[in-house]
Amino acid sequence: MARVRQKNVTAATWKSQNGQSLGAPDLTVEDNNPFGRNVFSSAVQKERLSKDTFKKLQGVLETGEALDAELADEVAEAMKEWALERGATHYTHVFQPLTGLTAEKHDSFFEPDGGGGAVAEFSGKELIQGEPDASSFPTGGVRATFEARGYTAWDPTSPAFILENPNGALFCIPTAFASWTGEALDGKIPLLRSMDALSKSAIGALRILGDREAQRVFTTVGPEQEYFLIDEQYYFERPDLVTTGRTLFGAKPPKGHELDDHYFGSIPERILAYMLETETELRKLGVPVKTRHNEVAPGQYELAPIFENSNVGSDHQQLTMQMMQSVARKYGLVCLLHEKPFAGVNGSGKHNNWSMGTDTGANLMDPGETPADNINFLFFCTAVIQAVNKHQGLLRASIAGIGQDHRLGANEAPPAIISIFLGAELDKVFEAIESGQGDPHTPGSFLELGASVLPPLPMHGGDRNRTSPFAFTGNKFEFRALGSSQSLAFPNTVLNTIVAEAIDELAGKLATKVDGGTELVEAVAEVVKGSYSANKQIIFGGDNYDEAWHAEAEKRGLKNLRTTPDALPEILSEPTIEAFGRYEVLSERELESRYEVWLEQYITNANIEAETAAAIAKTMILPAALRYLALIDDAGTGELATEVRALVDGLVAEIKKLGDANVYPDGIEGLELAKYARDHQVEAMGTVREAADKLESVVADDLWPLPKYSEILFVR
Ligand code: ADP
Ligand code: MG
Repeated sequence: MARVRQKNVTAATWKSQNGQSLGAPDLTVEDNNPFGRNVFSSAVQKERLSKDTFKKLQGVLETGEALDAELADEVAEAMKEWALERGATHYTHVFQPLTGLTAEKHDSFFEPDGGGGAVAEFSGKELIQGEPDASSFPTGGVRATFEARGYTAWDPTSPAFILENPNGALFCIPTAFASWTGEALDGKIPLLRSMDALSKSAIGALRILGDREAQRVFTTVGPEQEYFLIDEQYYFERPDLVTTGRTLFGAKPPKGHELDDHYFGSIPERILAYMLETETELRKLGVPVKTRHNEVAPGQYELAPIFENSNVGSDHQQLTMQMMQSVARKYGLVCLLHEKPFAGVNGSGKHNNWSMGTDTGANLMDPGETPADNINFLFFCTAVIQAVNKHQGLLRASIAGIGQDHRLGANEAPPAIISIFLGAELDKVFEAIESGQGDPHTPGSFLELGASVLPPLPMHGGDRNRTSPFAFTGNKFEFRALGSSQSLAFPNTVLNTIVAEAIDELAGKLATKVDGGTELVEAVAEVVKGSYSANKQIIFGGDNYDEAWHAEAEKRGLKNLRTTPDALPEILSEPTIEAFGRYEVLSERELESRYEVWLEQYITNANIEAETAAAIAKTMILPAALRYLALIDDAGTGELATEVRALVDGLVAEIKKLGDANVYPDGIEGLELAKYARDHQVEAMGTVREAADKLESVVADDLWPLPKYSEILFVR
């Protein structure tokens, strides 16, 4: 299969990134190259562990067997020594509860020795397992019938690291978080399970396709993270930003993102200094950050690391978001990760570049240069198409969230309709396979099914479609609809699971044909043809922002789930429960818990936003407008006073409506309450905002209580 094509990634780093060694970047640490300096990497492990233990640990990681206590003790001892040398005083099990955030439980390395001193304690037991109180984290009912205790378990496939702080250092151990009954209460456990499932399915298919070497298939993720930077002074003057992460009020600035000079424009010095420090800090932690540039909107930027295996990439993404936010404060900035911090201005997303690679260094989403590569590619690519079509609703649900409702389908970001963009060349290949008729761009001999010599597919990955939610981009798929604040764990868990299912189904068909005597190439072509015909309604190369697409998608029978309450029930759909159960990624009960937690989050956040909006309108904006009204009354300017009075009356009426909406009707809960919040609270917030924003352009600037978009958005 084709080697990884990305620049800067050698086969060796690809392998280590894919967990072939320890999942830790295997790079030499040099003083002038901080990469991985604070990581308990495989290089450090090799240096610090006995040969035997190092080998054993690697074996454990490769086969996924349980760790024995003795081994854990030695690893823990080495970790402790390394961490103490680096000034760590505490260790913490870092985990990802269902809030989507990162949680930590800090413990001191030092225990009182009884004689007034302290000794450093950290054994294998403490390494392997922690015991936070699960009752402080959402569990969607899983906890209710059992004990409130949860446990965290060391994930040896994601490297431990040291987080520096001006007053010390913290040794962080990536962990999984489960209930005592073994139910996953986090994002990591299902992600790991889904990676296992996909590997098993893909290896099975590869065997039928004639690959005898590969032992493991890793899914990979390379996220492109968009974010805003604003001056912290403005941030703290805006209770809406502080409380909800987005501005609930604010008229569109006269100078908006139509100003092209921001995109790829030069970066102000303070911003650049911030970026450089963030990148350095992340490199120390082994996060392979790479690109930086301005995004479409003013004040908006992007950061993208080189891809890694899904588990490590997902952990690193959490760390990245955390670091982006903490470093910003050093520069008097606040990093906004909300999906839509400013209405009328481009929102922030996260492109989830996803692929599958073998432990022998092949990228299964790379068309490649040899006939065998092409067959494999077509097979796996078809599996992705089938999976996305079958589980389009679940994919939509996997990126749902209150912030996303301002973005998806709002004619700027990918729509709420999931579709796939393949690009003109790949379209042609699939169409030719389906029709059995070639064209000048598709090699004729490939279409003569059964031909034993196939020329390479002419794939350049050239054309792009910025509006597609799920696009093939040359050697990977880009799931472009993630929200900027989102954890990568669930969307990738979904992708891995549904693709595993599709691979198995197609591999089953392939095996039947091959066993029946059909030649492999012909069998693949037949399987591809059948699946493509059945699923091609999901392929769309046009403008996803176009209103006409909504009508067309409906005709095709595609789902258009516009809001979070529309999307979340997909988590409990029959095909979801079936696939997640079969691959043992999430049980029905675990799926239910996620549905409940995320629904609850939507309701809670909608309510916080609506109450914050009501408070700001009532106690900040209305008083300012009234002051201004008094001022113009004094000046006797009749016409202006009439206009302002009308606007004030409008605002008062809307405040009343919002206040009413903020009182829940009796007896509703769950999905019904979420829909109530959407249809009444979110709706009323929008209209109160409209009334307030009209006043913003009339009321004297020195009386206006909130910093305006035109001030906030242009950091210098
Ligand atoms: P684009 O313009 O295509 O979005 P970028 O260079 O901004 O290009 O982003 C590409 C992203 O895709 C990077 O994060 C990169 O690491 C990631 N990527 C490249 N190859 C793979 C792969 N095989 N699997 C997952 N992600 C990948
Ligand atoms: Mg991209």
